[in-house]
Amino acid sequence: MVSLADVKKAQKEIQETIHRTPILTSSLLDERCGMEVFLKAEHLQKTGSFKIRGATNAVKQAAAAGARFITAASSGNHGQAIAYIAGRMGIPAIIIVPEDANRAKVEAIKAYGAKVEYCGLTSAERIPRAEQLAERNNGVYIPPYDHPAVIAGQGTVALEILEQVPEADTIVVPVGGGGLISGILSAVKNSKPSIRIIGVEPETANDTFLSLQKGEITAISGTSTIADGLRTSQPGDLTFPVLKEHLDDLVLVSETEIKEAFRFLLERTKQLVEPSGATALAAVMAGKNEMEIKKAVVVLTGGNIDLLKISHVLEN
Ligand SMILES: *Cc1c(COP(=O)(O)O)cnc(C)c1O
Repeated sequence: MVSLADVKKAQKEIQETIHRTPILTSSLLDERCGMEVFLKAEHLQKTGSFKIRGATNAVKQAAAAGARFITAASSGNHGQAIAYIAGRMGIPAIIIVPEDANRAKVEAIKAYGAKVEYCGLTSAERIPRAEQLAERNNGVYIPPYDHPAVIAGQGTVALEILEQVPEADTIVVPVGGGGLISGILSAVKNSKPSIRIIGVEPETANDTFLSLQKGEITAISGTSTIADGLRTSQPGDLTFPVLKEHLDDLVLVSETEIKEAFRFLLERTKQLVEPSGATALAAVMAGKNEMEIKKAVVVLTGGNIDLLKISHVLEN
């Protein structure tokens, strides 16, 4: 498991690159949820998501070990984050994206200074290509969640939360591959273990829920949620054991509940948060917690959404 010291070290490594994002509150939200809710605004983070934390820590570590070339296999927030930090550090990077990748996302990756290569439609096709390119060019392939430096980097969000909301009793976090939540668990359960950590998945991408139920990594196929950052088919080899040992609860939300949280954030708090980023709030708004919560920190993980898709998310 990543240690608290690893997360603190990551914080030092990345603090000049990332924003210390604010905590947002809304009395209307508190009333609706029957608890105090503190929104950790990672949608206002550099590159629009928390992924820059892990990406920065991993790229810096790779560069320190002599890597002169970086690859990643993601058209989403991880790909953008790797492109940004590699560009800023002057390290050449190639991001492998699916053939049907969204054009706006590809343009964002290029604008950060990385090259883009199209490959297949699945991550099973992209990852070997990214690994191969890294190997050929004396470089390093950086995965989106199953990597100790990535996990430690994501965990830095918890160090900020502990300082910003020291009286919080619960932290609610969306779960894709589990990099973010295992980083948060590594920081919190090694310092203030009484704080409960609740993971949230879409009902239609419930691989971690099923894996926890079975007690072993379990893959699903055909995830189709609107929360595209949570469409992983199974939890990671490094992340899953941390969740299995330390996670307090994992709850599921419906597509409608995610859309309701998205709408609330946009309409009432004026915050544009992508569906994946609104998923943890969806669980709190729908009262999915079994245990009573007084003060919850909800991580709004990202804000990158194709503007043309907003009306679709607002539909019921
Ligand atoms: C990647 C991502 C997640 C999920 O993070 P994992 O580390 O894969 O669990 C959640 N929200 C957003 C916006 C993301 O980009």
